[in-house]
Amino acid sequence: MSTKISQAISALRQTLPHAHLVTPEAAEEYQSLNNSYLSGFESDLTPTCIFLPQSKKEVAAFVKTIQPFVGDVQFAIRAAGRQPLPGCANIQDGITVDLRSLKGIDIQDGHVQIAAGELWGSVYEYLEPHGLGVTGGKSTTCGIGGLATQGGLSFYSTREGFICDNVVNFEVVVASGEIINANAEENSDLWVALRGGGNNFGIVTRFDLRTFKQGPMYAGMVWYYKPSFPDQIAALVKELTSPDASVETHLMLSIAYAQVFSNGNDVICLNQLYYTQPIEDPPALAPFTHVQPQRAEMNTMKIQTLVQAATEQSGAGQSMIRCLYMNVSVKADIETLTTGGDIWCEELESVKDAAGLMCSYTLQPYAVSLLESTNAKGGNVLGLDPSSGPIVNVLLLTYWKEKKDDERIIGFMRRALKRIEQNADARGQLVPYIYWNYAFSDQDALRSYGKENVQKLQEVSKKYDPNGMFQTACPGGFKLCI
Ligand SMILES: Cc1cc2nc3c(=O)[nH]c(=O)nc-3n(C[C@H](O)[C@H](O)[C@H](O)COP(=O)(O)OP(=O)(O)OC[C@H]3O[C@@H](n4cnc5c(N)ncnc54)[C@H](O)[C@@H]3O)c2cc1C
Repeated sequence: MSTKISQAISALRQTLPHAHLVTPEAAEEYQSLNNSYLSGFESDLTPTCIFLPQSKKEVAAFVKTIQPFVGDVQFAIRAAGRQPLPGCANIQDGITVDLRSLKGIDIQDGHVQIAAGELWGSVYEYLEPHGLGVTGGKSTTCGIGGLATQGGLSFYSTREGFICDNVVNFEVVVASGEIINANAEENSDLWVALRGGGNNFGIVTRFDLRTFKQGPMYAGMVWYYKPSFPDQIAALVKELTSPDASVETHLMLSIAYAQVFSNGNDVICLNQLYYTQPIEDPPALAPFTHVQPQRAEMNTMKIQTLVQAATEQSGAGQSMIRCLYMNVSVKADIETLTTGGDIWCEELESVKDAAGLMCSYTLQPYAVSLLESTNAKGGNVLGLDPSSGPIVNVLLLTYWKEKKDDERIIGFMRRALKRIEQNADARGQLVPYIYWNYAFSDQDALRSYGKENVQKLQEVSKKYDPNGMFQTACPGGFKLCI
């Protein structure tokens, strides 16, 4: 351990004598905390110390105490550890600030106040008896911070916008150690910057989000075969480009491969479908639910509560698996999306034998109505204009079992992504936006927001963090690097 980091830890112990600091000497607790990331790429990193603040005051004390060590000591901010980007929420030989003990959910003036250590599942359980919904993660196990500061797609996004667009107030510890609020009236430049700017400005301790009246929804999964995929893409593009497209749908179309299903042979297709009203078999979903032939015994479409729908999505809620995401955004164009799927299937052949392989080519649309919500709700920094919509985000998601396959899986994903990008570009359908939550280390999501937004973010950073603490001492994620 370097002298500087041991001095920083001693300083923390002095400032906060009861601080919950976990070092590798407490082997069992340390292992359990460090192994609780979704991705093994995060758990591969071994921080010198894991700090679990018990209150926002302890977060503020941490930031103040660490100030003199900036340049010598680095830290990471972790919520639920569900983002697979290596090093975004953990740090080698530094201090990981694990927010899981910051608990509390309350409703005030129609807004739900959520402490940074909560999970979306707990928020939904809290809101359900009140007949309320909120734009949050589609899985109960996801944390608040990654989604609410980096965009965030929810079941309700077509109607309500990005998750970050629905944050009415961030309570945040900035570089000075001060706890401030960022909302439409106070520190509004920081409020907008945090709507997409990630962990570049401080540690958010509480998120206040707009709620809305919400009952159960018609939701579930439909499994079918590859020959029907082009027609499903055509139906998706038709719905997205229709002048009276429904704002109640959230549609995800995938080609997937899993050894457990496919046994080395063929891919299978999956529609994850949500109609956010309690209407059985609504016409807007019919083209996707009625696809034939389908694996009828695996069809899960039914009326579900928000908690149930988000629980169904938590299947991938395990920890410490090898797991990576990459993504690209394109216009809603049938040929681009169909050829993209063919490219992915071709490249998949080279890794089908990797142990425990489970992967997908997943299409998640950003309807025009979603993009229109941004300005109506105060703006964000993602750089997406309704006039460029509808957009489809193409997510390449891969899970596998053994570290020895890392390089060839990364190679497969990079090759597929590059060819999909080139294909979209050649057709004039490429959109520069990269979704932060699904980006890999060499995909600079922040710069994909465009020069003007990056400049705006740099100005906010200089104002609230003049010495660039969150640029240099907190390197995880995508940085402004002023
Ligand atoms: C099963 C599953 C379902 C998913 N569903 C969705 C979905 O519905 N929609 C979607 O858009 N994405 C989804 N994702 C992606 C995932 O939710 C994101 O990657 C998200 O960032 C994870 O959030 P987290 O808070 O757990 O992040 P972590 O991995 O803990 O952190 C992610 C980043 O956010 C920063 N951060 C976290 N909290 C704070 C804070 N309080 N202050 C400052 N910075 C902070 C961290 O420093 C880190 O850089 C899903 C992923 C999985 C595995």
